[in-house]
Amino acid sequence: MAAVSHSSEQKKPLKSGYFEGKNIPDYEKILNCVRCGMCLPHCPTYNELKVERASPRGRAALVRAVADGRLEITPNFTAQMYLCLDCRACETACPSGVHIGYLIESARSQAEQNLPRNPLVKLFRNIALCWLFKRHWRLELVALPLRIYQKTGLRAFLHKIGFFKLLPKSIAFMEALPPDDLKTPFRRTIPDVIHPQGEEKARVGYFLGCMMSILFNKTTRATVNVLHRSGCTVITPKAIRCCGAPLMSEGFKHKAVDIMKFNIDLFDSLEVDYIVTDCAACGAALKEYREIFEDDPDYHEKAQRFSGKVREITQFLAEWPHTAPVEKPPFETPKKAIYDQPCHLCHAQQIWEQPIKVIQSVPGVELVNLPESEWCCGSAGIYNITHYDMAMRVLKRKMDHIETTGADILLTANPGCLLQLRYGVNERGLPMEVKHVVELLDDGTGYSNGHAKDEKCPTCGRKPRPECR
Ligand code: SF4
Ligand code: SF4
Repeated sequence: MAAVSHSSEQKKPLKSGYFEGKNIPDYEKILNCVRCGMCLPHCPTYNELKVERASPRGRAALVRAVADGRLEITPNFTAQMYLCLDCRACETACPSGVHIGYLIESARSQAEQNLPRNPLVKLFRNIALCWLFKRHWRLELVALPLRIYQKTGLRAFLHKIGFFKLLPKSIAFMEALPPDDLKTPFRRTIPDVIHPQGEEKARVGYFLGCMMSILFNKTTRATVNVLHRSGCTVITPKAIRCCGAPLMSEGFKHKAVDIMKFNIDLFDSLEVDYIVTDCAACGAALKEYREIFEDDPDYHEKAQRFSGKVREITQFLAEWPHTAPVEKPPFETPKKAIYDQPCHLCHAQQIWEQPIKVIQSVPGVELVNLPESEWCCGSAGIYNITHYDMAMRVLKRKMDHIETTGADILLTANPGCLLQLRYGVNERGLPMEVKHVVELLDDGTGYSNGHAKDEKCPTCGRKPRPECR
């Protein structure tokens, strides 16, 4: 991956044209695109629209035109930058190492700084993205009414009377996205330190992502359970802040630096051997800290150390020699599973084989091929909300492939993909469970099926109850 420089002490760009302020794209990196077109067949937006400006090559050319002073930062330019899913499939395909993710995030940051916007829209975006994502408790507060809405039965009632059929599809989609079994955010219930089963083999800092903590209680619990059974002391700092990915992808890269520095200092003080995350998008962002601070004299070394310790959970488990083995099948009858590669795992982190190795370690689970498993599902952060129509077109292509497999379980490793794919499966009425890879491993090693019924839960210290699952 090409080096990225967006620290406060940014290098002077070779040519900046209409770009000004922070995060001016490095002109040399723009020039890396030799216009060969090898990325085109891999780009979901180009495949849907078949226009050059919606392709990686077209987007790189637009960024160059602004840097050359041939094009101003207009609403049309901005729209093209935001139409990109930031899926990075083009980066995997590109022989010249063009880092489109870097160009797109820099261009969005430039648009955010330099394009005049309606003050109310600006204020809303600042609150919804910058203010909200900078602290976990703020997101937890916003999620509270959603839990009340579910727990009081209001949601079930509105569905029963068909209320959402009267609303625009994009609104009904937003309502249908969150899981229907929301629990207390995991950050509020997980102990600060969980000791390993048996002898300590490593000290692991758990980077608990905002969405994982609020929406995916089962997955986060599974991550901790598996690490605990694999000889790891698990340390979860409650003061943790967002990884910065939502801010970077929505044009606030220039405002994400402070929370990144906070996370670096926080984990530095814990003296852990690894920093593990079960969110592919968080993992990709955390590994980029080393490039983001490459020119920062105060954070260069710390960021190198921080990013060097980051492991996505399947990457960690596939490479860790002490991973708890799965001895019995987690299900009474054999199951057919498919794995959908999250873009921020395969394209952004180049993690392809490790999740497959983890799935194949579970007996009684047959992994079958999912065509185009590395193609984006259309989730892409909040893209499916801001670009509903395109997100649904991209999802349709994915679901057409999924439907042909006849699998019982659909596995993936990213919160956004889990939500999007669950929605797709429900919409088509497929009899398919959608879960994170680590949940499958937890099903196979521990609590859910009675394999470890005498074992105490590491997060609450009690024997697991049915509601724990
Ligand atoms: S982004 Fe890479 S693959 Fe695409 S046209 Fe440019 S050099 Fe070729
Ligand atoms: S990141 Fe994805 S959507 Fe954006 S240009 Fe590359 S392939 Fe296309």
